[in-house]
Amino acid sequence: MTEQLYHWVGGQKVNGEGDRFGEVYNPATGEVIAKLPYASRSEVDKVVQNALVAAEAWGDTSVPKRSAIIFRFRELLVQNKEKLAEMLGREHGKTIPDALGEIQRGIDVVEFAAGIPHLIKGEFNQNIGGNIDLYSIREPIGVVGGITPFNFPVMIPLWMGAMAVACGNAFVNKPSERDPSCPNFLAELWTEAGLPDGVWNVVHGDKEAVDALLEHDDVPAISFVGSTGVGEYIYQHGSKFNKRVQAFCGAKNHMVIMPDADMDQAADALIGAGFGSAGERCMAISVAVPVGKATQDALIERLVPKVEALKIGAYNDPNADINPLITRQAQERVEGLISKGIEEGADLLVDGRGARLQGYEEGYFVGASLFNNVTEEMEIYKTEIFGPVLSVTAPQTFDSAVSMINNHEYGNGVAIFTRDGDSARTFSKQVDVGMIGVNVPIPVPMAFHNFGGSKRSKFGDTQMHGPESIRFFTKMKTISSRWPSGIKEGAQLAFPTND
Ligand code: NAD
Repeated sequence: MTEQLYHWVGGQKVNGEGDRFGEVYNPATGEVIAKLPYASRSEVDKVVQNALVAAEAWGDTSVPKRSAIIFRFRELLVQNKEKLAEMLGREHGKTIPDALGEIQRGIDVVEFAAGIPHLIKGEFNQNIGGNIDLYSIREPIGVVGGITPFNFPVMIPLWMGAMAVACGNAFVNKPSERDPSCPNFLAELWTEAGLPDGVWNVVHGDKEAVDALLEHDDVPAISFVGSTGVGEYIYQHGSKFNKRVQAFCGAKNHMVIMPDADMDQAADALIGAGFGSAGERCMAISVAVPVGKATQDALIERLVPKVEALKIGAYNDPNADINPLITRQAQERVEGLISKGIEEGADLLVDGRGARLQGYEEGYFVGASLFNNVTEEMEIYKTEIFGPVLSVTAPQTFDSAVSMINNHEYGNGVAIFTRDGDSARTFSKQVDVGMIGVNVPIPVPMAFHNFGGSKRSKFGDTQMHGPESIRFFTKMKTISSRWPSGIKEGAQLAFPTND
């Protein structure tokens, strides 16, 4: 049966008012499972007005009280993990263990956000001159818009929203229209945890809803995660309306394998980081860069049987390795790129095109695919494929591997596998990439550190979660204050100094 979905505004379900709707699919079966309302500009405005009122009272709520509600929300997330994972798998397609991993990485940030009394502490200097005390405080900014992608419908709303709310703001989430049920359920759990109505809202829709947030006078900040083309637009358009914008975008993550690396370990790392979640992760490794021909041969020898053994399957199939892609269009696009790679002269060693599964014939599956001898001019090297396709490049030297990485337009994540500390240290210094793994294939920093890429993988200069997120979600006030009796001396016209 097709479920009718809704927005979440002011602590309750709100039906769409307009006649624009989208369809939500189960990617494993190709069936339509829900109908989603797309908000108009005026619907978005109502959500923002509601959030604005809520933000004022929430910003005045004591910081420990905010923290206590976040603690309760964290407990509810833990209790509802399995339910969320099932919901996530059904709309996104990822396997239950993978969904549980995503949920945990979201919970990590909620736990970090609960430490807000410590995180939001200001700075204080006593007597900087003339008995003046100088202090800086961080205040909420109001209503924050959070535009989130399909590939982490639980983790990413939590990453941005938990920090925004902890800082005393109201949050309006505009999730991906592909898998909207988890974001709705998160909002429901916040209400159950005691978050005042209107502090966490969900409004569904497409470009019209996003533009309404970007152009709204009462939304001073936008946090975005998604593709580079859209992120660049969000950054530029939002900035035109004088907002602070952070946009975390697309990626093409390389893993360099040095001749001294443990080849079995490197091959396993490539399988997990390349094919987990069917490659639909911004931190997926999609390019393996072997240093030297012998390294390339050793790697290929290990990779081919492992890639061939990966099984496609639905989210609730315990034997599934590779989940379906998010849409039919994504499936066709990835298969098209594999064909393009062959035309361009790369060696396709394992071909996942045309993969079909009995009982799931209409599912959007692409089997695990492996290319060898990929070069920098090829489309499959330049483009973020966002599917289960791993490219092994022609053999490189250490220096050419580093320049290859630095010449790529993206700089989200990167890894090096080696037993040599000097190679790892030089590599970490020389690559222009935001997140680096040394013998760690998916170097997603933990909640208490900052997350973010470089080059065209990120627009804006602040990071996701970690201490930097406090800076993004607050504004600073700096107060110079004097309480002595010495100001009765009359006006002083010279510029003040600390004498
Ligand atoms: P997307 O850019 O298509 O969509 C992201 C959000 O933007 C959605 O809410 C969508 O409704 C909205 N949107 C789409 N088109 C728009 C338009 N023309 N104008 C305004 N809003 C629009 O991204 P996606 O396909 O949902 O997610 C996959 C992408 O996200 C990949 O490129 C991936 O690398 C990236 N991603 C990056 C990170 C990171 O931290 N760097 C994390 C996860 C995903």
